[in-house]
Amino acid sequence: MKVTNAEIVISAVSKKQYPNDRLPEIALAGRSNVGKSSFINKLINRKNLARTSSKPGKTQTLNFYKINNAFYFVDVPGYGYAKVSKKEREKWGGMMEEYLQYRDTLKAVLLITDLRHEPTRDDVQMYEFLKYFELPVIVIATKLDKIPKSKRANHLKRTIQTLHIESNDLVLPFSAETGEGKEEAWGVLQSFL
Ligand code: GDP
Repeated sequence: MKVTNAEIVISAVSKKQYPNDRLPEIALAGRSNVGKSSFINKLINRKNLARTSSKPGKTQTLNFYKINNAFYFVDVPGYGYAKVSKKEREKWGGMMEEYLQYRDTLKAVLLITDLRHEPTRDDVQMYEFLKYFELPVIVIATKLDKIPKSKRANHLKRTIQTLHIESNDLVLPFSAETGEGKEEAWGVLQSFL
C-alpha cells in the first residue's frame, strides 16, 4: 500500500474519545521496547510519527493514527514493564478490555514480538487475552535482521510453538531495519480492511 497520508488523530484514555467515523481499525500490541513504533513508522514510511517507548509513569493512551483517510492503526500501550505498579497494571487492563471487547470497527490485532528471543510469559498472556476476545491476530516477529539466515526458521518455529498459535493466525518475520516483511505485512493487513 502506498501511504500518502498519516496523522495522529487522538491519544485516547477513554471510550468517549475514540473516533466515531466508523473506519476499520488495526490495533498493535507488544511488550514495551519490542519495536512497535519502529514497525508502524516503517510501514507508513515516516521517521517519527509513532512515538517510541511509553515509559512507566507516562500517561497510557490509545493512539489512533489515521492512514490515507481509510483506516486507523491503533497503538495500544506496551506491556511487560517490571516496574509498573499493580494499580497501573489494573488501569492498563481495564483500558485494553474496554477497547478490545466492544470495539466493532476493530478488524485484527498485530502482536509484535522479538524474533531473537522466545516469547515471554507476558507475550503468551497477551496472545491468550486477544484470543479470549476472539480477535484475529497477526504476530509480527521483528528484528529479523539480527538473526543469521540459517537460524531464522528455528526462531520462527519457537515463536509459533511458545505462543500456541491457532491455525487461522499468521506469524510474519519482519525487520524495521531492512524493511523485510513489509510487503507481506501490508498484504495480510489489506485482507482485513
Ligand atoms: P517500542 O517501545 O515497542 O515502540 O520500541 P521501539 O520501536 O522504540 O524500538 C526499540 C528499540 O529497538 C529501538 O532502539 C529500535 O531502534 C530497535 N528496533 C526496533 N525494530 C528493530 C528491527 O527490526 N531491527 C533492529 N536491529 N532494531 C530494531
